Amino acid sequence: MSVLIVGSTALDSIKTPKAFNPKLLGGSASHAGVAASFFTDVNLVGVVGDDFPRKYTALYQQHGLDLAGLQVKPGKTFHWSGEYEINMNRRRTLATELGVFETFSPELPEAYRTTPFVLLANIAPALQHHVLDQMKKPKFVAADTMDLWLNIAMPDLLRLLKRVDLFVLNDSEAQQLVKEDNVVAALPKLHKLGPKYVIIKKGEHGSILSGPSGLFIAPAYPLKKVVDPTGAGDSFVGGLMGYLAGSKGPIETNLRRAMIYGSVTASFCCEGFGLTRTTKTSRADIEKRVKELLRISCV
Ligand code: AMP
Repeated sequence: MSVLIVGSTALDSIKTPKAFNPKLLGGSASHAGVAASFFTDVNLVGVVGDDFPRKYTALYQQHGLDLAGLQVKPGKTFHWSGEYEINMNRRRTLATELGVFETFSPELPEAYRTTPFVLLANIAPALQHHVLDQMKKPKFVAADTMDLWLNIAMPDLLRLLKRVDLFVLNDSEAQQLVKEDNVVAALPKLHKLGPKYVIIKKGEHGSILSGPSGLFIAPAYPLKKVVDPTGAGDSFVGGLMGYLAGSKGPIETNLRRAMIYGSVTASFCCEGFGLTRTTKTSRADIEKRVKELLRISCV
């Protein structure tokens, strides 16, 4: 089955202690879309300006992303720039230039409205709602978010959580949302807000799922060297949703394995700037790392 992914389609300028790379292909929907494309068909929903490089459209196409839902508007593509410290877990946003994103309203092509799996990647909760309003009975809906929306759009986010099956967030966002430092204690509080499944991401320490059959812990793939972690969270949830959509059988059963696939897809993302490493990865590379991750994490 296919997956619809809405989120930001951006140009990212990324500074690490070792290098600076301007105007790379980025955005939550780009990372999640390419990650999901290893496992299933992807309908991409986003907006870019008329400055969006053709080579990036070509990259989407090489990964088989359906672009009927990608609007091209006069003006500038959303531009985000960030800087990492020597400890790559610490990042600060240097600039966010909204460009065509400022007036973006995601309008779904008719053919997208029956897509069974929906990933509301990081984007304003009001836009996530607008996409859901256009969907006809999706089978499974997941939502991601970021601290910005907790700060400026909490009522919309809380309303959204009543409409999704899976909510994915990182540990600091969980702490901010339910005022609980301990992730295990935060999980029941997050379920109370609506979602049947909750995943808390903990960066290099993996992720934890809570659902009707209890907890599941997925490790991160151990990397010797992280080049640029931008988009790792989006790649995780994109890989996870792509794998789920592309698998037969009950979601409850597939979700655990989907997290392992998400972890591995995210590991490739961290090994290069922007999407450079992920776009050179193959399904066979992913399968190899999945086997390895299972071997080193199970008794
Ligand atoms: P992550 O590293 O998983 O937090 O995701 C980083 C991606 O989020 C980058 O590619 C950015 O383009 C994108 N991003 C940054 N700020 C925003 C925002 N306000 N809304 C949507 N996407 C954003």
